[in-house]
Amino acid sequence: MIALSSKLAGPKELSRRADAMPRSAIREIMALAATRPDVIHLEVGEPDFCTPEHIITAAFQATRAGATKYTANAGRQKLREQIAARVNERTQQPVEAEQVIVTVGAIGALYTALMAVLDPGDEVLIPDPGWPNYEAITVLAGARPIRYPLSAKNGFVPDPTDIASLIRARTKAILLNSPGNPTGAVFPAEIVTAIGALAEHTGVHIVSDEIYEDIVFDNRRHVSFLKHTPPDRVFVIGGASKSYAMTGWRLGWLICPTGASALASKLQEPVVSCAPSPSQAAAEAALAGTQAVVEKGRRLFERRRDVFLDVLGPTGAVAARPSGAFYGLVHIGDKAESSLAFAKRLLLEGGVAVVPGDTFGLSTARMVRLAFTIDETDLRTGFERLRAMLD
Ligand code: PMP
Repeated sequence: MIALSSKLAGPKELSRRADAMPRSAIREIMALAATRPDVIHLEVGEPDFCTPEHIITAAFQATRAGATKYTANAGRQKLREQIAARVNERTQQPVEAEQVIVTVGAIGALYTALMAVLDPGDEVLIPDPGWPNYEAITVLAGARPIRYPLSAKNGFVPDPTDIASLIRARTKAILLNSPGNPTGAVFPAEIVTAIGALAEHTGVHIVSDEIYEDIVFDNRRHVSFLKHTPPDRVFVIGGASKSYAMTGWRLGWLICPTGASALASKLQEPVVSCAPSPSQAAAEAALAGTQAVVEKGRRLFERRRDVFLDVLGPTGAVAARPSGAFYGLVHIGDKAESSLAFAKRLLLEGGVAVVPGDTFGLSTARMVRLAFTIDETDLRTGFERLRAMLD
């Protein structure tokens, strides 16, 4: 009996930890939204358009031709080479195909990177606000998430001094995300360089989530941490989900330091073995085909960002001008006792679903996140209803 109950304590402990994670606020809003008619959805974090036709066709053809089996843990060699070539071209860094691990979504790449780097008890520096899964993976690895602040006043760009002040003996990695979710921040080159230098001086790893690298506005450029961090210290996460509207294909990738790629590849085996073959074939087509689809999506999100600034800018509630990704944060002021209470009221009284800011950390506890992932007319209506609630 005793042995049985202590065995059960493991999964229970994990589920307790999962429940304690901040994602519960967004889950609550999504569950409530599902019960309401005619909701305007400003909570959804994925492109609203379908995967381009040429990618779907190529995936069908490859599947009919036999892409129905396991692949190597690290993915199909051709795809690994295509990803390496893409990264080389963008960063001018000599990345080899052997450093590329094809993963199940960018989340799979994050998981693999953190599992490769962390031992139980290690500390990881995580942005506040930041995507909640960073904390979730860290906790599941038995490590400790330590939050570093991103302030609205700084446009949610990290201050390297804040990060440096948190580095201690047990700090193993700094997690960074540019373009950012939920912030829309795009880090300038000097910040990327300064944080890369921190990794060099301290020996801490950089784990850089660059899944939104193609969605950057105002003629700004995405700067990869791969370019400014010692190559034996940096893991970069990318994928097809946002650039090619391929969230459901579950296809991401991890660029590892040369010395870590064998371990990262092995870490795929007990979790997913490999990314799905048809999705790998789809990603090959996405990378080989026209990139006009990427630019089309980018422009669409920029226009919607402009609508966001147009409708909500004059209220003074916009926390910072988003420069990339497809999200904006808005202050709720004293309109409710919490961001969850505000989001519930907006949903019940205004028919608009948003994500409560405390999903992302304490610093956004009095904000909500809006996603620009619906058509412009509904988007404007959603923003106007929110504005009415803020007035
Ligand atoms: N990182 C961030 C910051 C994200 O917002 C998301 C998706 N919402 C991901 C990673 C995961 O991407 P994927 O769907 O490819 O796993």
